[in-house]
Amino acid sequence: MIDIQILLNYDNLSGVVTLNLTIMAMIYCRECGKMISDQAHSCPHCGCVVSNPNRSERDWLTALLLCFFLGTLGIHSFYAGKNAIGVVQLLTLGGCGIWTLIDFIMIVCGSYHDGDGKLLSNR
Ligand SMILES: [Zn+2]
Repeated sequence: MIDIQILLNYDNLSGVVTLNLTIMAMIYCRECGKMISDQAHSCPHCGCVVSNPNRSERDWLTALLLCFFLGTLGIHSFYAGKNAIGVVQLLTLGGCGIWTLIDFIMIVCGSYHDGDGKLLSNR
């Protein structure tokens, strides 16, 4: 769900009105049930560690390093759970490096998905 927070601050001294508009996706904490940001790593209410259902368990930095050093062998695709793509990349040497380069850019931009279609988590 999407939560829109509008914060209106009026500064009496300068007469300036500041408007802060924050749009973020909200999820429910599985421990205490309160609403928290989907960007939060732990619940601010009860302190439990949040596992985001939209985020992969696989680590972004690991995929980045695997793609950089072993990308032409498709190792990052195996790591991300995309075994079929990994085999093809292994046989084609990462699409002669072009495929690997595209994957590398996508990982850097944070738009690389794992085999379950989830974004890699950036811890
Ligand atoms: Zn909580």
